[in-house]
Amino acid sequence: MKIHEYQAKEILRQYDVPTPRGIACFSADEAEAAAQTLGGGVWVVKAQIHAGGRGKGGGVKVAKSLQEVTENAGKILGMQLITHQTGRDGQKVRRLLIEEGANIVQEYYVGMVVDRSKQRVVLMASSEGGMDIEEVAARAPEKIHKLWIDPAEGLLEADADAISGKIGLPQSVYPQSRACLRGLYRAFVEKDAMLAEINPLALTADQRVIALDAKINFDSNALYRHPEIVAYRDLDEEDPAEIEASKFDLSYISLDGNIGCLVNGAGLAMATMDIIKLYGGSPANFLDVGGGASKEKVAEAFKLMLKNPSLSAILVNIFGGIMKCDVIAEGVVAAAREVHLKVPLIVRLEGTNVELGKKILVESGLAITSANNMADAAQKVVAAAKGGN
Ligand code: GDP
Ligand code: MN
Repeated sequence: MKIHEYQAKEILRQYDVPTPRGIACFSADEAEAAAQTLGGGVWVVKAQIHAGGRGKGGGVKVAKSLQEVTENAGKILGMQLITHQTGRDGQKVRRLLIEEGANIVQEYYVGMVVDRSKQRVVLMASSEGGMDIEEVAARAPEKIHKLWIDPAEGLLEADADAISGKIGLPQSVYPQSRACLRGLYRAFVEKDAMLAEINPLALTADQRVIALDAKINFDSNALYRHPEIVAYRDLDEEDPAEIEASKFDLSYISLDGNIGCLVNGAGLAMATMDIIKLYGGSPANFLDVGGGASKEKVAEAFKLMLKNPSLSAILVNIFGGIMKCDVIAEGVVAAAREVHLKVPLIVRLEGTNVELGKKILVESGLAITSANNMADAAQKVVAAAKGGN
């Protein structure tokens, strides 16, 4: 689960990580009032969306007067902010963070993720802060310093200081950077994060070390023990189809192709997408209806796919193990009737009750193309999506 920058900073403050003072807002008027409340003469107006790269996309502006705050807030609110993390249509900005400006001397990168192969949280730090860390990793991997943290010991002061030294922070500010690194680690562990990043971690002219930007992603499987994190959820930032899917306990991910895929089992769903690609097509979604789906669940899954305006054909690929083919067939027929299906539908069934399933499809009178195996199914659906048959 993702949260906004201002929310991540609220969490980091609880772990004694210094951040600029800031106020989240929903309108230009609120932004001006926030700047007034914060005081000072320089503010930063920051778009709050669940994606990085906002600075380059025009979503982070420094303002030197209240008028500039209002102007920038007006411009940024409502814009479709396009960054390398949003996809081509961008993300609509509905919230802002107004912060006191910082006088930056140097920008650094610090981040943490779980390294499964080492079974530890790895701290990554670099002198090359502010920009895309992916680019640094590709161009100059030696500039990213790593430390695998022993869960029994936590992040030791000496290790934190060694990292500060490697990225070139002056020794005089080690106490501050130590607080940032150790606070970030404690937040990561206690809140069950999957990723926590401060980019940039800034050294200011008055010799402070502060988190100018913050990003935390949480492990969704641990949310049951963090109601305070769940309360941060912003549904505006999530894909409507994926929200709808989660209500029915379906694993659905929107993709940018035009072939809808309804499959049971994540592995088979992946293989189905691969074989569609192999035959020159492009999947519109990943959809795993699960091992024991009911007729109703299949129907909901079907309707969900059909909401996608790019959809030009559908492939239902089911291997009936626990799942019975006749149940799938009934769900497909019910959904196809209800939504007045207009795109070609290719169905490949195999396994338990397959003959009964096929019979239900044939007797439905619907224009359903049967396929005998995965390759056959993929070729048929790719042809159908291209307007052939
Ligand atoms: P991102 O592009 O989505 O990662 O957004 P950031 O919050 O990292 O902001 C992008 C850039 O804006 C930072 O790397 C800084 O250079 C700049 N920036 C952010 N806050 C301040 C500030 O308080 N003062 C100044 N001068 N620049 C800032
Ligand atoms: Mn950043």
